[in-house]
Amino acid sequence: MALIVQKFGGTSVGTVERIEQVAEKVKKFRDAGDDIVVVVSAMSGETNRLIDLAKQISEQPVPRELDVMVSTGEQVTIALLAMALIKRGVPAVSYTGNQVRILTDSAFTKARILQIDSQRIQRDLKAGRVVVVAGFQGVDEKGNITTLGRGGSDTTGVALAAALKADECQIYTDVDGVYTTDPRVVAKAQRLDKITFEEMLEMASLGSKVLQIRAVEFAGKYSVPLRVLHSFQEGPGTLITLDEEESMEQPIISGIAFNRDEAKLTIRGVPDTPGVAFKILGPISAANVEVDMIVQNVAHDNTTDFTFTVHRNDYNNALKILNAIAQQMGAREVIGDTDIAKVSIVGVGMRSHAGVASRMFEALAKENINIQMISTSEIKVSVVIEEKYLELAVRALHTAFELDAPAGSAE
Ligand code: ASP
Ligand code: MG
Repeated sequence: MALIVQKFGGTSVGTVERIEQVAEKVKKFRDAGDDIVVVVSAMSGETNRLIDLAKQISEQPVPRELDVMVSTGEQVTIALLAMALIKRGVPAVSYTGNQVRILTDSAFTKARILQIDSQRIQRDLKAGRVVVVAGFQGVDEKGNITTLGRGGSDTTGVALAAALKADECQIYTDVDGVYTTDPRVVAKAQRLDKITFEEMLEMASLGSKVLQIRAVEFAGKYSVPLRVLHSFQEGPGTLITLDEEESMEQPIISGIAFNRDEAKLTIRGVPDTPGVAFKILGPISAANVEVDMIVQNVAHDNTTDFTFTVHRNDYNNALKILNAIAQQMGAREVIGDTDIAKVSIVGVGMRSHAGVASRMFEALAKENINIQMISTSEIKVSVVIEEKYLELAVRALHTAFELDAPAGSAE
């Protein structure tokens, strides 16, 4: 008998009919003898609808209150799913994050899970119940409702699986696995049977929308076997694993990730002295703004330019901070650009192969796409380009790295 945590995303519980289908699926596993904990998201579109409501009151809603509100989406789906299970004769009980006690810090709208009290769940499982838990939410030490950031239900699922030492965490979604890239952009994208946590982390952090990054981090850290599956189609899905199987057949690049969520900021003409990077990025990080890529130019005339990217949501905030810093430092000017996109090739195969980056640059050059920034890690090369060339770039790279599905294949 296995203990399985199953997470169903917003589209999988998007209508009452679908919730009934999910209940059928859960029942099947349970009838086979498994202990099941289900984590659900809000019905698709619901979280956005709630955020829109808040924005009608205030452009920047108070984070604490925003969390009180958006957490209601998941409260609806847990109850509906528990009802659907009970209707089928399956004993079930639903809990909010607060009720389980998923303890988080107090960073409203992007809280981190600190601890999960699994006793209550364990008692229910022992009593033969399916436990349905609201994704995306928790509670801080003071009893305030918190949420984990968009897509946070994945993290709830993995964190619960880790806390309960589950045999597998299954993430059910509207795709049948992790793909070499977004199939909406590249029709010839292929499903991967397996991907390493490390690669998945790069894919997720770089904007592959399948799994929330924190969920993958958690899963890797606690070695939670993670599988991405289609909610309503049979199939093996994609297993996210620790082992890096060496295979001659394996392509060097596992996937191509991209995102349009970043913005670029440049501060020009800053003095080229020790401590400058800290003076610029210190206040940015103090404001809780995450910086992604950073480039500092070689100095000339004792001054230098400094460019970095942040999430687009943080752009206005970062720009304000940077303008203040520029004035303090007597920098020449601050330039911002939101029409950028980041494209990355990801693969553990890069460790053992040379020339991967140049192959990437060649493919982009052939399409006449200008590269604005470059960054590399052991298993990834990323470039920032003009947003309007994003799809062209992804398609060109998918072909250049031989990831295209063979003509006529099912996928
Ligand atoms: N409902 C939340 C969102 O839309 C959390 C989730 O679906 O994972 O971001
Ligand atoms: Mg999701």
